[in-house]
Amino acid sequence: MVISNLLLLPGDGIGPEVMNEVKRIVAWFNARGAGFELEEDLVGGCAYDAHGEAVSDATMDRALAADAVIFGAVGGPKWDRVPYEVRPEAGLLRLRKDLELFANLRPAICFTALAESSSLKRDLVEGLDIMIVRELTGGVYFGQPKVITDLGGGHKRAIDTQVYDTFEIERIARVAFELARKRNNKVTSMDKRNVMKTGVLWNEVVSAIHQREYPDVTLDHMLADAGGMQLVRAPKQFDVIVTDNLFGDMLSDIAAMLTGSIGMLPSASLGLPAAGTGKRRALYEPVHGSAPDIAGKGIANPIAMIASFAMALRYSFDMGAEADLVDEAIAATLDEGLRTGDIATPGTTKIGTAAMGTAIIDKLDRLSA
Ligand code: NAD
Repeated sequence: MVISNLLLLPGDGIGPEVMNEVKRIVAWFNARGAGFELEEDLVGGCAYDAHGEAVSDATMDRALAADAVIFGAVGGPKWDRVPYEVRPEAGLLRLRKDLELFANLRPAICFTALAESSSLKRDLVEGLDIMIVRELTGGVYFGQPKVITDLGGGHKRAIDTQVYDTFEIERIARVAFELARKRNNKVTSMDKRNVMKTGVLWNEVVSAIHQREYPDVTLDHMLADAGGMQLVRAPKQFDVIVTDNLFGDMLSDIAAMLTGSIGMLPSASLGLPAAGTGKRRALYEPVHGSAPDIAGKGIANPIAMIASFAMALRYSFDMGAEADLVDEAIAATLDEGLRTGDIATPGTTKIGTAAMGTAIIDKLDRLSA
């Protein structure tokens, strides 16, 4: 049996509640021969309370050694006044930085049973399955100079700098093309080459990588503003979208809303393949935050967290069939009309976090029988 080491970082608020359901799913797979070994540690506000920092060096060492990190959520009003460098979010940012997670994968999948919750018409979103690949460690959020200067006379000037080097575009493009090969073989690259030099380079580099290494994949280019429009006009035209940090931030949120609730959205952040094993560093997390308004009530939707673990099965452990099984179990549970409060509609049955976990495990039993 291959032993795989998972580091669970449940974090704050509803993080531990939804992570509990992942632990049950891991136990289900272990009982059937999988070899996941779990470690658990603190991150975010709870880590600040324990050690005065949002993630300790010891936790970082465990994260660097793990085969995958499964992250819940951090933050909450309790830590609103802690110093900026040790605020809960700093824990997540350090993990992303030190693990060099440059590729953020956000699937937007619309379950048939939830098509009515989308802000778009059912026929536009039913069966939607797209993947947004966002560059996560470069671009305008990190480029220097990044300053506000006082020009005197009541005037100030703010500068952010959008910078991309060839290698950063190449490595994110490769992630997108590799993913497309396992999906519907199509990549749409979005940039603003009409007004930005980084867009010109982005376009050139993605085209060159395509020609050199992935000629079998269909590649389209779209201006990022037009891409936003197309995402709400006809989202099913896309398979994999690859874009920079800033545009990816916005476009992935637009895509998210096509699918209904934030409690349904998983994500993965991947690093470079390690020399020798070829295994990528990886962190999996729901898109939602710590939801302090509902924390401790046992009503949070665990689906985004469970679907994040399914992404870990798919992208870190090459367990695509098992990931499909989890996704099917989620769909079957929704088809049965079971809903947490955030996705409940008239005529459906409202259940809590643990009952949703149990319902999904029941479906795993049934689907694998
Ligand atoms: P949020 O995602 O925590 O909550 C937004 C709304 O969605 C709330 O009404 C919440 O109850 C609901 N919601 C979120 N997840 C849900 C779930 N699984 N089931 C049911 N309902 C759910 O965003 P926010 O309120 O803007 O932020 C709350 C805290 O979380 C803040 O401290 C913020 O900084 C932090 N945050 C952390 C992360 C992260 O850890 N990656 C991401 C976003 C926000």
